[in-house]
Amino acid sequence: MKQLKRFIHYYKPYQGLFYLDMFCALVLSGIDLVFPVLVRYLMSDVYEKKPPNMLELILITGGALLVLYILRYFCQKFITSWGHIMGARMEADMRRDLFTHLQELPFSFYDNSNTGKLMSRLTNDLFDISELAHHGPEDIFISIMKILGAVAIMLFMDVRLTLIILGVTVVIILFTAFFNIRMRSVFAKNREKIALVNAQIQDSLTGIRVVKSFSNEAIEAAKFEDGNRQFLDTKAESYHLMGTFFSGSSFLQGVLYLSVLVVGGIFLWQNSINTADMVTYILYINVFLNPIDRLVNFTEQFQRGMTGFTRFLEILDTQPDIKDRPGAVALQNVKGDIVFENVSFSYEGTSQVLNHINLTIKAGQNIALVGPSGGGKTTFCSLIPRFYEVDEGRILVDGTDIRDIRLSSLRGSIGMVQQDVYLFNGTVRDNILYGRPSATDEDIIKAAKLANAHDFIMELENGYNTYVGERGVKLSGGQKQRISIARAFLKNPPVLILDEATSALDNESERLVQQSLKELAKGRTTLVIAHRLSTIQNADCIVVLTANGIEETGTHAQLMQKGGVYASLHSESVKLR
Ligand code: ADP
Ligand code: MG
Repeated sequence: MKQLKRFIHYYKPYQGLFYLDMFCALVLSGIDLVFPVLVRYLMSDVYEKKPPNMLELILITGGALLVLYILRYFCQKFITSWGHIMGARMEADMRRDLFTHLQELPFSFYDNSNTGKLMSRLTNDLFDISELAHHGPEDIFISIMKILGAVAIMLFMDVRLTLIILGVTVVIILFTAFFNIRMRSVFAKNREKIALVNAQIQDSLTGIRVVKSFSNEAIEAAKFEDGNRQFLDTKAESYHLMGTFFSGSSFLQGVLYLSVLVVGGIFLWQNSINTADMVTYILYINVFLNPIDRLVNFTEQFQRGMTGFTRFLEILDTQPDIKDRPGAVALQNVKGDIVFENVSFSYEGTSQVLNHINLTIKAGQNIALVGPSGGGKTTFCSLIPRFYEVDEGRILVDGTDIRDIRLSSLRGSIGMVQQDVYLFNGTVRDNILYGRPSATDEDIIKAAKLANAHDFIMELENGYNTYVGERGVKLSGGQKQRISIARAFLKNPPVLILDEATSALDNESERLVQQSLKELAKGRTTLVIAHRLSTIQNADCIVVLTANGIEETGTHAQLMQKGGVYASLHSESVKLR
């Protein structure tokens, strides 16, 4: 019920449209109810009795009907176009709310959700909701008006016939409801199976290189055929059901007409009803059957829409746990002192990743983090911009607890270059500009030059206006990385985090990228996670991080002399080369 209330809330901005829509629905049902009455009048009072002014009466009734139909035309047009548009506007509002909210949610939310499912919520679920938003009230309203109106008039004309009609109608309703439930479950199964087929296709196509290199095309085809077969089977099942349902309901409707014809015929024979009433009756069955169908369908639509809406609320009600505290401050002229004080952290449902970490990084220092894979280096770095919240202890930037710094200010002072570079759909310029949207073209070119990217960009077909990303030119890993470094230059942050930025690159690209990174690191507090120990020998301080916490800290020379974890990591890496 609370959900329904929140659903209704989305009608608020469109109240005017909503009431107009309902008014049109009212007029429309009224007109549909009047038609049989007019027919009855014409048959009994005009066609049969043939009064002297018969022609006049026919023309007047015809004229009145024409006016009603013209009115009906406008009402129906309004409902179909503006009713749908109202639903679509509500859908757009909900989608905006959801998207804005999704942007606010922290990494921990995305760690536990599947992008495909989120996409389907933003599209399918919301479409179901909008259909309900528009058809729901109107369908209920029109249907109830028509059913009540028709039953009242029919009862007034002949109670016995009406009771027979209602009896058969109950059978029709039960029949329809029964099949609705069964079809719903089969359709759900259908959707499940096609999702499996799609996932299979996606998996195989994404991994096509692996498939081919192992010559496993036949195995993939067999896996696919299995799912494809199952989908076909459930589809067949749903068509069998549909076959029985549609022919069954036509049959029952036939029975309804037939009972009126036979029973009404008997009444006619007994002279307890007249032909005009009989014809009117049959016309009312028409008015009556369609809304019953609609009402039964509505229960399904309501369920689907509400399920969608519940899922929509589920996300909307997920509170971002990482947000600005009241009274959070913006840092001015960040120097870049970073202190970890007794910091512990674990991901949701994992064991402790960082254990009571203490570390002081002075502004402008170049710190290298090394350690075994899975030792927590990336995690360590993601705590500084507050991508995740520490469980224990605190992190200070320039002496202020990061939880007391505005997120925009904190994250604005930190630049990150990671192993995977994501380039948005757009031009090279757009992608560099992402680092500081207010930058001028000159700034962009300067940043690209510093990042060793200008030359290759100029060689692209359209220079800085070349499209990259999903639909654009393919750039090599090293080129993408240099664009992301240009982005960081443009942002010009006092604190820089380089997380294995070159580990996906070949030697030649690595050399170029290393050069640009060295340039980028100048004059900033820099945290480097390197996969090659040879690149960090000049660091001011090397921190060895393992599952046990910080094992050692010191310069290359100090740690080599100590002969501990670092020294053995180093001798291993020398052996590998
Ligand atoms: P490193 O960068 O040193 O290789 P990470 O910081 O990536 O190590 O990972 C440290 C540990 O945390 C690993 O055991 C990893 O499985 C786990 N981990 C990393 N990211 C997540 C995450 N988003 N959710 C849950 N566990 C994670
Ligand atoms: Mg890592």
